[in-house]
Amino acid sequence: MGQDISPPPLSLYIHIPFCLSKCGYCSFFSLPFSKQSLAQYCSYLHKEKALYRQQLSSPLHSLYFGGGSPALLASEQINGICSGLVFENNAEITIEINPIQLNAQFLSALKTTPVNRLSLGMQSMNAAELKWLDRRHTAAQMQDRIKLCREFGYDNISLDLIYGLPGSNVDTLRYNLDALLALQPEHVSCYLLSLDEDSTRYPEADTLPDEDNQFAQYELIRSTLKAHGFHHYEISNFALKDKTSHHNLAYWNSNNYLALGASAAGWMAPIRYQNAANLAEYYRCVEAGELYPNQSICTKQRMIEDYLMMGLRRIDGIDVKDFKQRFGRDIDTLYAERIRHLVGLGMLKRDKDTLSLTEAALFVSNSVIAELIL
Ligand code: SF4
Repeated sequence: MGQDISPPPLSLYIHIPFCLSKCGYCSFFSLPFSKQSLAQYCSYLHKEKALYRQQLSSPLHSLYFGGGSPALLASEQINGICSGLVFENNAEITIEINPIQLNAQFLSALKTTPVNRLSLGMQSMNAAELKWLDRRHTAAQMQDRIKLCREFGYDNISLDLIYGLPGSNVDTLRYNLDALLALQPEHVSCYLLSLDEDSTRYPEADTLPDEDNQFAQYELIRSTLKAHGFHHYEISNFALKDKTSHHNLAYWNSNNYLALGASAAGWMAPIRYQNAANLAEYYRCVEAGELYPNQSICTKQRMIEDYLMMGLRRIDGIDVKDFKQRFGRDIDTLYAERIRHLVGLGMLKRDKDTLSLTEAALFVSNSVIAELIL
């Protein structure tokens, strides 16, 4: 394993599963919000945090409040969760926010917390699409709400955009992208809509655009955002200079991250674990003092595969020297045949120090990566 004597960076993910209402396209674990349930949940987060006291004595590289709807947390609850944590200088601390919750009162309370990056679930700037997505904010509100965030000093704002909605095409998407760019975010995450069987919109799955249309939309996103100065640094993510998501890069770089809260999944090499997606079971595990529930201890081969699966999502790909340092193996020897085959097909690029997907492989990345490692 690595020769580096400094400890590997540690990140922390906190999951808040409560939502104001359930969006029809969503298949995440989410529960109806009430102040009492959230307060009880926070008391378990504190107990769970205490279980990982030793691990959390390392300074955190990043902290991410995700959900669900973590902006339902009161500022006192955020500060309570952050208390006792140690942060690296310039640690990135993100919270996901449903735009419907953004107002001066919310932001002034948020300013009392260490949160320094906002990830806004904008999803679309088209009224009909927002309605279909069951989002309760309107496109017209976005400009003023982002302006308000700026007035409160937030200079690192990410916007989520969902593409591939029913009835969408490059023209409807172009409108969305123009409207998004007018909001001047520092970071954009673009997700292709997929409807899982347990989402209430699943019966509409056959109204989604076909693959050619989806691909054309993805290409339009890439070309438009790049033309406006965004660095395409991960399959679905774009950032202005120095505004990449440190937290998500921890995932893609296979760095360690603890995850607290129901359904949260963590990686503390060589342990992969996941808390129960069920409040009663999650509370039971915390009460029982279980560390790393539902864990699997990964073999070196599994760690290599996970590293490739995550690392190849980065547009720069994986650093072959880092691979050798982590695993003591030469990637060109380990995957010689498959790399040669995929390079020949124009799906992988092997530069001096890196192995990466080609542009042609980005939209079909899952199949290409599977072909490499499986
Ligand atoms: S999409 Fe987000 S806000 Fe909507 S139900 Fe799912 S987790 Fe909650």
